[in-house]
Amino acid sequence: MRDQRRPTGAVFLDRDGTLIENRHYLGDPAQVALLPGVADAMARLCEQGFALFLLTNQSGIGRGYFSMADAEAVNRRMIEMIGLGEDVFTGICIAPERPDEPAAYRKPSPRYILEMLVMHDLIADRSWMIGDSPSDWEAGIRAGITPVAILAADAPRELRARCEALGITAHGSFVEWVDAVIE
Ligand SMILES: [Mg+2]
Repeated sequence: MRDQRRPTGAVFLDRDGTLIENRHYLGDPAQVALLPGVADAMARLCEQGFALFLLTNQSGIGRGYFSMADAEAVNRRMIEMIGLGEDVFTGICIAPERPDEPAAYRKPSPRYILEMLVMHDLIADRSWMIGDSPSDWEAGIRAGITPVAILAADAPRELRARCEALGITAHGSFVEWVDAVIE
């Protein structure tokens, strides 16, 4: 029997452009700006019993622009601003590789998602990958969970076309998606 308190589904969240404002090569916690409504939306997902994971590509580490410790400090600042406790994420994965390096966990690799589904006994049909980049959507597709595209009103036309070609549902923000799926 499944423990009723344990999550059965998961929401894998991209960081930059999904939870916080997208700034290129963010290695400074002082530059973290939470997008509006994110904390409340995450609280609602937690109340619904979803496990939340953070999966973020940070090639700035591989390029030598900032360190893994800097990326972790940025995450800590974001988690502090979310205000739902230090353990709001069941797991966090920072992928430090450059795009030209062999990828271990760098999206679109589905590896982290697949490992977490097994480790936490989560149901793929009740799990999503949310992000604003094709690499987010592809990671979700390859992991067998449902991808969700975050596309702002001014998103480039090619990006919107890519999303439509993949048949992925798009929302204007993470908060809009939560409003759509959580009653
Ligand atoms: Mg992003």
